[in-house]
Amino acid sequence: MNRAFNFYAGPATLPQSVLETAQRELVDYRGAGMSIMETSHRSALYDEVHQACVDGIVRLLGVPETHTVLLLGGGATLQFAMVPMNLAGGAETSCDIIASGSWAKKAIDDAKKICSVNVVWDGKPEGYNTLPDSASIASSPGSSYLHLTSNETIQGLQWRDFPQTEAPLVADMSSDIMSRPVDVDRFGLIYAGAQKNLGPAGVTVVIVQKDLLDRVPDTVPAYLSYRTHADKNSLYNTPPVYPIYILRLVLDWITELGGIQAIADINRRKAAALYSAIDESDGYYRCPVDPAYRSMMNVVFRLPDEDAEKRFIAGAEEAGMVGLKGHRSVGGVRASIYNAMPESGVAALVEYMERFRRG
Ligand SMILES: *Cc1c(COP(=O)(O)O)cnc(C)c1O
Repeated sequence: MNRAFNFYAGPATLPQSVLETAQRELVDYRGAGMSIMETSHRSALYDEVHQACVDGIVRLLGVPETHTVLLLGGGATLQFAMVPMNLAGGAETSCDIIASGSWAKKAIDDAKKICSVNVVWDGKPEGYNTLPDSASIASSPGSSYLHLTSNETIQGLQWRDFPQTEAPLVADMSSDIMSRPVDVDRFGLIYAGAQKNLGPAGVTVVIVQKDLLDRVPDTVPAYLSYRTHADKNSLYNTPPVYPIYILRLVLDWITELGGIQAIADINRRKAAALYSAIDESDGYYRCPVDPAYRSMMNVVFRLPDEDAEKRFIAGAEEAGMVGLKGHRSVGGVRASIYNAMPESGVAALVEYMERFRRG
């Protein structure tokens, strides 16, 4: 077997032990004589997986009684529409969104189709290379909620702490959920597509404050309504059973490692090693991001010119490190170092960066 160090931004690397368990259990799930993806989503066999997944999220993230966990389809992208449909819902309503980068921009575009949008802070004039001071952010009068993107996957920006706002805080945590402890209590709603930090594409985790469900307009179609899924424990229709099964294995893996604080410590070491390699390269590697908001998940950097970047990426691939090409909209290099990227992968990249720079 020859596993690459996989730096793709998403879908992204998964813990090898999770893949091996899935492989072992694929054809005959724990003696059931079938795969978990071949059984009814109403069976006791699947129900145990589903509940373990919900309970694991509650336990690891410390989700309080006031909030409920939903497992949905449609990716984080569907949440760009579902959030305003459920929490604002109507041309006469408004929401606040922080325009921090490419993903926030998509959230804004969809929300505008549902309600009026106040862009309360816009990073575009600076080229999306910094974030606002959280203490400077307030929600607008009458706003239904304030939306932010906790980690901008493409620009490599990450919030360190979060604003305290009058309106409920909504966060797209697709690319940093469970990478560090967060105070769930402070959020009205958190959502995350699984394929960066949690599992495979196909399941989206939504954590919503229960009393916000009272807001959901009756005109929202069944699947698009959070209330439908909350009432049915995310079993209103067939959930993405296999991604949920893998997510459950990833949650078990996080638990075995010692929980989210333990993961956060590892993540901090990985990010520090990479940023040091950049900062101590005598300007050969440059990170365009404000040091106060550099992402611990997606480390973006440039080389002296695009030709060097191409050679860097090709050479890395030959050395078994894949997925380092920056997003097509921004270019450069991006190393995504999610929870499942081992420290040995980052060490290999740092060593390669040194070697490449010295020529
Ligand atoms: C990847 C990503 C999305 C989009 O996720 P899909 O599951 O592809 O819809 C949204 N927001 C952020 C921050 C992301 O990283």
